[in-house]
Amino acid sequence: MSIAYSAVRSLIFLAILTSLMPLGMGADTAKSDLENAKNVILLIGDGMGFPQLTAARVEKSGWNLSDYGNTTLNMDQMEQTGYISTFSANSFVTDSAPASTAMATGHKTNNGVISQDATTVQGIKDGKNLTTILELAEKAGLSTGLVSTTRITHATPAAFYAHVDNRDNESEIANQLLESGTDVILGGGLSYFIGQNQTNPLGGKSKRSDDRNLIKEFITKGYVHVYNGTGFQSLTGNKTSKLIGLFENSHMQYELQRLDSSDKDPSVEEMTTKAIEILSVNDKGFFLMVEGGRIDHACHERSLDNTTMDTLAFDQAVKAALDFAAKNNETLVIVTADHECGGLVLQPENLESYEAGGLNPYFASGIARTSGPRYDFLTEMVEATHTAVDVPIMASGPGAGKVSQGRMDNTGVFVLIKKVLGL
Ligand SMILES: [Zn+2]
Repeated sequence: MSIAYSAVRSLIFLAILTSLMPLGMGADTAKSDLENAKNVILLIGDGMGFPQLTAARVEKSGWNLSDYGNTTLNMDQMEQTGYISTFSANSFVTDSAPASTAMATGHKTNNGVISQDATTVQGIKDGKNLTTILELAEKAGLSTGLVSTTRITHATPAAFYAHVDNRDNESEIANQLLESGTDVILGGGLSYFIGQNQTNPLGGKSKRSDDRNLIKEFITKGYVHVYNGTGFQSLTGNKTSKLIGLFENSHMQYELQRLDSSDKDPSVEEMTTKAIEILSVNDKGFFLMVEGGRIDHACHERSLDNTTMDTLAFDQAVKAALDFAAKNNETLVIVTADHECGGLVLQPENLESYEAGGLNPYFASGIARTSGPRYDFLTEMVEATHTAVDVPIMASGPGAGKVSQGRMDNTGVFVLIKKVLGL
């Protein structure tokens, strides 16, 4: 290559780079860091790594290569894109508890621990409670909301409001949700809120060891309670300022199941839209966390259909957040994941010929290697596992530029939200 050609090529490259450079990068970076937002919507795809996004795009394109190039997710169109590390205080491979704790509090903790510090011994010894972004927002008079397709007491949402030494202590986590002051609560997990001898409108067995009826206690505190699609659809946003809607005894259905059911539970998009409608009435602003919680479960189960369809359903919730944010420039929307799950490999359909063009995705984690020959694998566990890879982060709105300044750690999500909300 001649020197002249190389120089011209560099100039062209620089020109392309400059034209592609989004606002908030380069010289504008410091300025955008100081921006304040009135509202923050944090959307967490549980188990949603880069391959899950690619697989969702492939599904959206109808597995059609000629359409694939023009197929984008809503989250692909956000202003800034980066990646975050996910390790916990005691493991390269995190579970949702410390990953969500990191984003909610800015601190690393041990696997299985919910918003207590790294002196905690899971299930044995309490550590020091860590203040969460939701608690700071509440204290400052902002409205707060939590939406999840899992039990609302599951690790990812729990880390925003509860402090326990073990993520499995979901009765206590439910008790702490009642005390948290969270204004809008939508998801699954009703069986942790209704005691042994209390009537559960969904039927089914209580998961509590006591006889407390937390739903009654929420209602006493002024919450409106709904438990099915009909009740949810009849809500009128402006008349409801506190809402608890738990639509399943355990996790909500996978999107494919939900679409097939007769009395449909609300979708994660519908729950997000409703939460925003209620929370945005507060002039001081709001903090809302939305979890696409079952992408992770689908990956554990090595179910590609549920992985892609739940990712696409979550992407519709992202659209609801972006549509709201587009009405003004006062909402920071962040989309990220707590960790990847499944070690999803998008390998060619024909391992000997890429030219055949197709894909044969495979969940490659949870395979134990023997001490024998290098490629001799002993066994595949029934469940695929989480992995240690970095995961995507996208952001739009005030302060979004921060996520594109090199690798970020998951603790940086807390720092960013705290800063833009001025908490
Ligand atoms: Zn998981």
